[in-house]
Amino acid sequence: MNITIVGTGYVGLVTGTTLAELGNSVYCVDIDEKKVEGMKKGIVPIYEPNLEEMFLRNIHANRLHFTTNLKEALDKSEVIYLALPTPPGEDGSADLSYVLKVANDIGEMMTEYKVVVNKSTVPVGTADKVTAVITSKTDLPFDVVSNPEFLREGFAVEDSMNPARVVVGCSSDKAKNIMAQIYQPFTNTGVPIIFMDEKSSELTKYAANSFLAVKITFMNEIANYCELVGADVDKVRLGMGSDDRIGHRFLFPGIGYGGSCFPKDVKALIKSGQDENFKFQILESTEAVNNAQKVILTKDIEKYFNDLKGKKIALWGLAFKANTDDIREASSLDNIKLLLEKGAKVTAYDKIAEANVRNVIGDQIEYAEDMYAALEEADCLLIATEWPEFKNPNFDLMASKMKNKIIFDGRNMFPLEVPEQHGFFYKSIGRKTIN
Ligand code: NAD
Repeated sequence: MNITIVGTGYVGLVTGTTLAELGNSVYCVDIDEKKVEGMKKGIVPIYEPNLEEMFLRNIHANRLHFTTNLKEALDKSEVIYLALPTPPGEDGSADLSYVLKVANDIGEMMTEYKVVVNKSTVPVGTADKVTAVITSKTDLPFDVVSNPEFLREGFAVEDSMNPARVVVGCSSDKAKNIMAQIYQPFTNTGVPIIFMDEKSSELTKYAANSFLAVKITFMNEIANYCELVGADVDKVRLGMGSDDRIGHRFLFPGIGYGGSCFPKDVKALIKSGQDENFKFQILESTEAVNNAQKVILTKDIEKYFNDLKGKKIALWGLAFKANTDDIREASSLDNIKLLLEKGAKVTAYDKIAEANVRNVIGDQIEYAEDMYAALEEADCLLIATEWPEFKNPNFDLMASKMKNKIIFDGRNMFPLEVPEQHGFFYKSIGRKTIN
């Protein structure tokens, strides 16, 4: 099948590459000319494990193409996927301007039947809005389908090639058959494809992300309470998670969730509720608890030192989670902001996410060449991302570099006895402080 993907970010590029891998001819469209030029030369614009190999393989097989020209791609494809940004507007609602602009362009440019598949995360009712915009531009037949994306950054290729389920919101049999054909390589191997109406499909994505945000946040509150009463959250987590109604995943406490999805999707669902005079109490609490959780360790660092003026803080990890270069809503940024406000100096290490942070805050902090260089003369270390390379560090080397042997660990990287054996002060989340 010939397929166009509009928007080549984390979702669009991975979806496009996956659909090419499954044998389709895929035309990826983006307005970012530099990005498109780079991709034509085989440069992957994002960091995502295992993407480059699949990307290059499909370019060489002539199944993956890049262009800034929507019309050119549209004319070649019956199916158009929208993988466009839906960032939070000022009131928290999802900004649909990117999606509706492209819907308008499609309406103006199309010359025959098209299926417009929305992969962006959008509020209930967006399929109707897209339909209305296209209808205002053309009399030609078309269908709009909601097909939310559930991939996780850092595992995007794995998730895209092995989805747990495919959700399709669609009220036309013709479009339904086309979607079934596209996903037939998955359904053939037992992956369920769940057809529903567009509104339920749109809400499924928000409900899934919000539920995960609540689960993480619930565990963070349990962790904070553990510290007060002398319980150990790692033990509580194991005890809880062994119940298969609960499961072990998403029970790891830390310094809050970030990224491009959970914060914005929770906000957007709260706002959508407000539009219906409906208060999502659990989501409002989740957002408030998470905002506080993100900087909980910087508050502890301040308490520890009394005054942060002139203190040198080493920061391991800038990405919002491991295995991605994405720093959108990353906890590291909230901590950097607060530390700088308090007069501290920050030296960070994160080779993968560093370039993105430089683009946002430039030289307000220093960037170290390796994880140990970040520790030179540091008053303490703050760990903000669970990169695997931090899991088993050389504690003697760390001690030799640091002014004080002090670690504030926002990702519970070490069993308590390890920093203890090396004589470190060690404060993590929901566990005893070693001092
Ligand atoms: P992104 O910001 O990484 O990429 C969006 C791309 O769209 C950019 O390359 C941008 O240049 C391009 N673009 C903007 N306007 C355009 C236009 N008019 N024509 C062509 N291209 C245009 O975004 P993303 O992270 O891939 O997210 C896309 C959507 O998918 C969002 O709604 C998001 O909520 C959702 N989603 C994201 C993830 C994730 O993990 N990132 C997971 C599931 C769903």
